[in-house]
Amino acid sequence: MNIFEKIISREIPATIIYEDEDTLAFMDIGPIIKGHTLVIPKICYDPVTETPDDVLAKLMQICKRVAAAQIKGLGADGVNIIQNNGASAGQVVPHIHFHVIPRFEGDGHHWNWAAKKYESPAGVENLAVKIREGLAG
Ligand code: 5GP
Repeated sequence: MNIFEKIISREIPATIIYEDEDTLAFMDIGPIIKGHTLVIPKICYDPVTETPDDVLAKLMQICKRVAAAQIKGLGADGVNIIQNNGASAGQVVPHIHFHVIPRFEGDGHHWNWAAKKYESPAGVENLAVKIREGLAG
């Protein structure tokens, strides 16, 4: 049983902010910004590519509501919604989850978003071809 399943079953405590028959939203124990919330399905799926479309649609609807509540309730100026897949992408808990992170002007957090450049138009097109093939396949 993963840590989120233990939260769902109340085996370990969490600060829950929303629950319905198939979804749970609770405060992240290690917030990037205070108010950082996790939205999870009660059934464990992982990663996103193995998660049913209807589950993803429901999760995003709850993320939208949590984001609106962070803006309304916390006075957030913006919100990051993030979902990690695989250790290389920073995923730690193997149970699909969306991070909904309230953002405030001057909150001091900066993503290490080091934008790179393609060496040539052919360089970007070569990769686009492979992704298009993946979409078609
Ligand atoms: P990931 O890196 O897998 O995308 O994110 C996992 C998140 O789960 C982290 O932000 C981490 O702080 C949070 N987390 C891990 N264990 C617990 C826990 O026991 N309780 C709560 N509330 N959050 C947790």
